[in-house]
Amino acid sequence: MTKSARLLPAARDLVNTLVIANRILFDHDVVDAFGHISVRHDKDPAKFLMSRHLAPGLVTAKDIVTFDRDANAVADPAQRYYSERFIHSEIYKRRPDVVAVVHCHAPPLIPFGATRTPLQPIYHMSAYIGAGTPVFDIREAAGMTDMLIRTPALGAALAETLADKPLVLMRGHGATMVGAGIPQVVYRAIYAKLNAALQMDALKLGTPIYLAPEEAAKAAAANDRSLERAWNLWARAARAKRKGARA
Ligand code: MN
Repeated sequence: MTKSARLLPAARDLVNTLVIANRILFDHDVVDAFGHISVRHDKDPAKFLMSRHLAPGLVTAKDIVTFDRDANAVADPAQRYYSERFIHSEIYKRRPDVVAVVHCHAPPLIPFGATRTPLQPIYHMSAYIGAGTPVFDIREAAGMTDMLIRTPALGAALAETLADKPLVLMRGHGATMVGAGIPQVVYRAIYAKLNAALQMDALKLGTPIYLAPEEAAKAAAANDRSLERAWNLWARAARAKRKGARA
């Protein structure tokens, strides 16, 4: 029996949740044709699940692929996969607490990776970013590139900049968020984008008063107790939209 033949399949519920998460992120303009979400394998924590090379709004259960710790597809190596899958593999290696990862190019986040103005918590809904928002500059890691995380070494450099934080901005590119599960990382991605837009508005009006670190920590803990409320709404809307599209 080969090693891959012994691979236990991921729970069907986990695959379906990952599919719906792809749709939710598309519905909320966190991702467009590009960007991706992954989840750690429920039966083998060294592996993770993610779609093959496909726009998130088109992902179905049959598109979900199992990747090993170095981001090699466990089966069907002839398929095409996301070139930036090393973002996910290198974060999972370094962060045993991380169960899900989102990578996106949401436009409101871009200015905060491209200037010296830090992304800071403007309201309670995005309080988790009060933990810190490091910026990864690929030029410092690798000189002149096409800006993409195309190698394990670049993934490792990004993961080092993320360190123990929930989010890392990527200069001239986008952002990557991590979470303890799919609902949390989806929540974090949606509210990071909303925070960036609101912070930009506030900066136009005057000097914003951000949440203090203690306020941010308390609000983030409260939000984590209400993830299910948000997730149930977003998932229902995404399922209804899928059903409508098939009709
Ligand atoms: Mn990207």
